[in-house]
Amino acid sequence: MTSPKSNSIPKNCVIALDGPAGSGKSTTARMLAARLKYNYLDTGAMYRALTVLALRRRVLPSDGVVLKKLADEMQIRFETQKEVNRVFVDGEDMTERIRMPEITRHVSEVSAHRGVREAMVGKQQELGKEGNIVAEGRDTTTVVFPDAHLKVYLDASLECRAQRRLLDMVKLGIETSLEEQEADLRRRDTFDSGRQHSPLRRAEDAYLIDTTHMTIDEQVDKIISLLKTAAKGK
Ligand code: C5P
Repeated sequence: MTSPKSNSIPKNCVIALDGPAGSGKSTTARMLAARLKYNYLDTGAMYRALTVLALRRRVLPSDGVVLKKLADEMQIRFETQKEVNRVFVDGEDMTERIRMPEITRHVSEVSAHRGVREAMVGKQQELGKEGNIVAEGRDTTTVVFPDAHLKVYLDASLECRAQRRLLDMVKLGIETSLEEQEADLRRRDTFDSGRQHSPLRRAEDAYLIDTTHMTIDEQVDKIISLLKTAAKGK
């Protein structure tokens, strides 16, 4: 690591955040990246974008062979515009599309194939190879960046996560209910934690933060203080 820019925050770090849906990863990672002037890598957006392509081309979410080929070929890039992390796939802006309920319904099955994961992990490691990155997802602390400078596992109660998801959906103009969001989270939690390849789990060296009663600013502050402590120990 090179010398710090502002008091003991190191440069060129990889910060990896994992946790279940609704635990606050995306907003925390985006704000943390902005504060540190790092890049933000939303790995879930990559699996969602692949799901959009698959459904559009009528590829079954169970067809791991064709999905891997699609994953290998797709060109994905991120751009932050007006505090929104925009996702472009083969030049097309898919930012809103990837959040649609139909995509959320199928993404866990699409992302569970070993070949798909290998293709995506390769792209993610390429994006993170220079450091200066905050990555978030389900396996960024365990598989994608096992040597990250700081690893954090975010969690929150199911009810709290469902409330957050409900708010996200309302902002997108999508009609849904708290019960529906709870059921979707329960289903995805079970699928993502129980799958054979890269299941969601807390890495042994990841700090656990329960965000149930925390604001986003508190979460970001907490991670920055962990980063400073981790840097001092190096
Ligand atoms: O984070 P987000 O909820 O957008 O992720 C959507 C889905 O993508 C997750 O439920 C999970 O099935 C999959 N995913 C994954 N590995 C990651 C990130 C997301 O399998 N690193």
